[in-house]
Amino acid sequence: MLQTQDKILAFLEKAKSFMADSELGIDGVVFSYNDLSLHESLGTTSHHPRYKMSFKWQGQTAQAKIERFKWLTSRFGSVTPVAVIEPVHLSGAQITNVTLHNASFVKLFNLKAGDTIEIIRSGEVIPKFLRVIRELDGCYEFPKECPSCQSPLIYDDVRLLCQNTESCPAQQLRVILNWIASAEIDDLSAKRLQEMLTLELVRHMADLYRLSVEDLLKLPLTKEKMATKLFNNIQKSKTLPLVSFLTGLGINGMGKASWELLLEKFVTLDALYTAKLTDIVAVPGFAEKTAQQIINGLADKKSDIAKLFEVGVQPSPFRKSLISASAPLRGQTFVITGALSRSREEIQKEIENAGGKVVGAVSAKITALVTEDPNSSSSKAKKARDLGIPFWSENQLANKLKGLSS
Ligand SMILES: [Zn+2]
Repeated sequence: MLQTQDKILAFLEKAKSFMADSELGIDGVVFSYNDLSLHESLGTTSHHPRYKMSFKWQGQTAQAKIERFKWLTSRFGSVTPVAVIEPVHLSGAQITNVTLHNASFVKLFNLKAGDTIEIIRSGEVIPKFLRVIRELDGCYEFPKECPSCQSPLIYDDVRLLCQNTESCPAQQLRVILNWIASAEIDDLSAKRLQEMLTLELVRHMADLYRLSVEDLLKLPLTKEKMATKLFNNIQKSKTLPLVSFLTGLGINGMGKASWELLLEKFVTLDALYTAKLTDIVAVPGFAEKTAQQIINGLADKKSDIAKLFEVGVQPSPFRKSLISASAPLRGQTFVITGALSRSREEIQKEIENAGGKVVGAVSAKITALVTEDPNSSSSKAKKARDLGIPFWSENQLANKLKGLSS
């Protein structure tokens, strides 16, 4: 199709923004005639066929020698490499840093200090690695320790990871954001929190409660009205439900629903702290691995909790669910499996409304396996049979819900 000059220019602009957003280094485009008969008739020059024309953005690539690597821990714990290069000028700016996406990049291209690489920059975008021009002998190296917290790193074939999610300063943003979400502090966005961390107004979630209106006025674009609003929102979150308090601590593997389930039995923070592994495992839905995680997690969070108490954070006691003592399935636990006449969610809701719970795994603690296929050979059915757990059909469940014996 014949294109006008305007269309070609518009396309180049589009290509430019595409390459700016792309993970790949792209430094130009190739135009070609679609009409194959023209391919023949146009012939070739000494370099290239005339039906094709390449277009490169001028002055947008440069060669540079790598001086060293900087490794930075992201807020999710991945440690990403930045090549520090001998300064070069590119598209009107002096470039000294080139981001390399992830550790596998360094391995793939065997990048080392002293190697010469080609880099590209388009528009206002940070420069990107394009290819290796000259390579020194030797082998790339990964850092052994997290640059933020010095704990050992693991490599998952793509990224280097810091597993110290609890106290790695670089990961603190995410930890505090989890608290903010759980304590439902309005108007405190990730951007604002980042600004607080940068200004060193906050290092720990407890520090939020020490902020004055004056402190908050130091945040960019924050005027009196917003600062006061933020201050009030933060202070208001000092009293929060115990479930939110625990969820906000960010213990591995424990979301709000799991804490709710656990608090049905333990009710207070003290009770949780004195619970032994066997006590937690006795609660339906908690396997030994999770129970151990909870015990370890709570032990790790002791100092966080102390800091929160110190600034006046007060979790309110857990209120047991308001399901009456006469609810027909109160205290009973079920596993649902196989094809049923209604959606699993619908049946689960019915069980929960009657005071029961639905869990994923069959254990000796469950009341019954809800299934329409009493001869099922699924692993859940087999296990239930081995443990002597009764099988309930939908009909039987319906009768129990009505309070009938079977
Ligand atoms: Zn770390």
